[in-house]
Amino acid sequence: MNRVPALEDLGDVSGKRVLVRTDFNVPMEGPDDQRVITDDFRIRAALPTIEYLTSRGAHVVCASHLGRPKGAPSAKYSMEPVRKRLAELAPGVDLLENLRFNPGEEGNDPTFVDDLIRGIDMYVNDAFGAAHRSHASIVGPPRTLPSAAGRLLHREVEVLGDMREKPKRPFVAVLGGAKVSDKLGVIEALQQRVDAFIIGGGMCFTFLAAQGYPVGDSICERDQIETCKQLLAGGTPIHLPEDIIGLDAQGVYQTFGIRLPEGAKGLDIGPGSAAAFTDIIMDARSVFWNGPMGMFEDPRFASGTKTVAQAVADTKAFTVVGGGDSAAALAQFKLESEVDHVSTGGGASLEFLELGDLPGLAALRGAPNAR
Ligand code: ADP
Ligand code: MG
Repeated sequence: MNRVPALEDLGDVSGKRVLVRTDFNVPMEGPDDQRVITDDFRIRAALPTIEYLTSRGAHVVCASHLGRPKGAPSAKYSMEPVRKRLAELAPGVDLLENLRFNPGEEGNDPTFVDDLIRGIDMYVNDAFGAAHRSHASIVGPPRTLPSAAGRLLHREVEVLGDMREKPKRPFVAVLGGAKVSDKLGVIEALQQRVDAFIIGGGMCFTFLAAQGYPVGDSICERDQIETCKQLLAGGTPIHLPEDIIGLDAQGVYQTFGIRLPEGAKGLDIGPGSAAAFTDIIMDARSVFWNGPMGMFEDPRFASGTKTVAQAVADTKAFTVVGGGDSAAALAQFKLESEVDHVSTGGGASLEFLELGDLPGLAALRGAPNAR
């Protein structure tokens, strides 16, 4: 397998127009026509790549998606607020409008690829968070243009590659969040690689239901219960919560045991679970964390996520946190600098750990300068 080409493999970039696929899918709030960026981490994260190119005389054209506009322009998903912030951070750099305004992006339409690369000499992918999708801007340009991975993508591949191939053991995967069916495949694949799973967040209720516990009105994917049963019967330990915080049928805040009464909604792991999870994380030598332990956006349900985040920060293990919401939780608790690596991609980091490759990486390895 060729290696993924790095920026240095582009050779002389002076005077060249370089298309940089960035991940500027930043969180925003406010009315549709007055959106404000609430965290510019992803824009700042692209600067090392942009500066490598501009300081060597290249003209940089950035392109990104933002949200899910479903193939049509809309004020809500306009790149305008990002363009303003980018102009402050990297003057003279261009930014195309939201790639997903054109259905050709997600449809991987060759005509859209042609539009994207018209007048462009080279391509750089620095959008790890989108590298698991075979979209036009990810897999199209490297078919014809000299191409490279940007600094951010390169570091992701290095860190996650090591975690996949040669983790220090015990290797513990801490999983939570809301997208159960999305992540079950990964759990299955990671069974071979990790020594234990910790499962909290919305995910845990499908597992608890698979163990026969009543989960009340908590989010639970009934059609995945069989898969969860098989995973629980597999050889890799799966640690589940032993207490749950949530709202009872009357909407009153409560700490429950592991059985939720009818109508109750589990929205965070309880203090006993958080303490047990902390012990496991402290004893690990590699930790990968994706997905908050509860609905941490509501301060009433943030303590499980905060305790686990603190353990991930305190453990001597090599720690990687992946996922937009998990990274946001870390930032909220001001613990970003206490972990070894914050991955910019949730789905991408899981898929890379699972498969060891991504469509966007394979595309770069096939570029004319890498073949
Ligand atoms: P990430 O972005 O880190 O990959 P996800 O997107 O999978 O994580 O999940 C994050 C979301 O999961 C958060 O918005 C959080 O509120 C939600 N969540 C976590 N636990 C629960 C729960 N018990 N019930 C409902 N939603 C939950
Ligand atoms: Mg998310």
